[in-house]
Amino acid sequence: MSGNGHLFILSGPAGAGKGTLRKILFKEVPDLVYSVSCTTRLRRPDEVEGKDYYFVGKGDFIDMIQNDAFLEWAEVHGNYYGTRRSDVRTCLDLGCDMVLEVDVQGSRQVKAAMPQAVRIFITVHSMDELENRLEDRGTETPDQMLLRLRNAAFEMRYAGECEHTIVNDSVERSSMELIALVQGYRNK
Ligand code: 5GP
Repeated sequence: MSGNGHLFILSGPAGAGKGTLRKILFKEVPDLVYSVSCTTRLRRPDEVEGKDYYFVGKGDFIDMIQNDAFLEWAEVHGNYYGTRRSDVRTCLDLGCDMVLEVDVQGSRQVKAAMPQAVRIFITVHSMDELENRLEDRGTETPDQMLLRLRNAAFEMRYAGECEHTIVNDSVERSSMELIALVQGYRNK
């Protein structure tokens, strides 16, 4: 799989602010394409089918795995998530720049398949900070939160493997850093 577009992979622990930074990036930088993932997770009230995710049943997801439809897929926090191979191929072949927001397992798989991908790890200074943010966000049950925090400890170790790390200490500063980074690759 190859093309002329850039492929940026955002990852990092739940609560670090990936989604917030990504939304600002898309507002400020034109002509970026977001890779809408498939997931078996239930839709949250504020989420839109086809914009945030494609919400699919577990059976359909397994069919897609068997048909090799995914560039990468993983089980994250008890649900399946995957990036459709055809979406990425079409976008990059058209010369468009694409942004993926995937977990560490997915990031590793994409990097192995497409070494030119640029991994950007979004993190925070401490686990306490993550816990506070997840509490403030309020989208998870206590059990789900515990699971996400446990995974976070493991995910944090991935930072060292990535091309770039952004410590999200302030949304304003971190979003500027992300925008500058993406624009830097575009202008190369
Ligand atoms: P959430 O359920 O909060 O939307 O996402 C949970 C985790 O799954 C996040 O770390 C998110 O980045 C990750 N994720 C979302 N889409 C994908 C995907 O297509 N593949 C993989 N591997 N992870 C994903």
